[in-house]
Amino acid sequence: MRAYVGLGSNLAEPQAQLSAALEAIAALPHSRLSAVSSFYASDPLGPPDQPRYVNAVAAVDTSLAPLELLDALQAIEQNQGRQRKAERWGPRTLDLDILLYGDRIIDEPRLQVPHYHMHARPFVLYPLAEIAAELLLPDGRPLAALLQACPFQGLERL
Ligand code: ATP
Ligand code: CA
Ligand code: CA
Ligand code: CA
Ligand code: CA
Repeated sequence: MRAYVGLGSNLAEPQAQLSAALEAIAALPHSRLSAVSSFYASDPLGPPDQPRYVNAVAAVDTSLAPLELLDALQAIEQNQGRQRKAERWGPRTLDLDILLYGDRIIDEPRLQVPHYHMHARPFVLYPLAEIAAELLLPDGRPLAALLQACPFQGLERL
């Protein structure tokens, strides 16, 4: 299955965090890292008193089940020093979100796919479009239509 993973970091050398995470994703069992977008700097969601983020999107061909993939991505976050804090959208060394998993729609306590806010986040849609311009979401909407409704705002291609 082709999954798309959103990467983000705004602590401890974000670009190095993303590069390390991509190596770790490439090394996952039963998985192949098949494409990676450019890196983008973006304004933070949530508390404004934090550094800008660096974001990217990766395409991963995997036979891991969705929750196995989530477990693996959360282990990578932990390995790279992710501290889970009460503050929502606070600063973090590494955030890995499953944006899409094939055309599956998943609604479980630990995992909702498509990622619930991807359609409104420029730091997800623009890098995703770089590696999957023709993509259709599971509900049939073309990625291109979402992009048209989402300004390239607060975003900078690195
Ligand atoms: P946001 O979800 O708005 O991007 P966040 O990434 O900061 O916020 P986290 O604290 O990283 O949120 O994750 C909280 C929980 O979200 C995780 O423990 C995980 O179980 C759950 N979750 C639900 N759907 C997904 C998904 N598609 N990808 C990653 N985690 C998910
Ligand atoms: Ca992110
Ligand atoms: Ca996130
Ligand atoms: Ca997350
Ligand atoms: Ca979440």
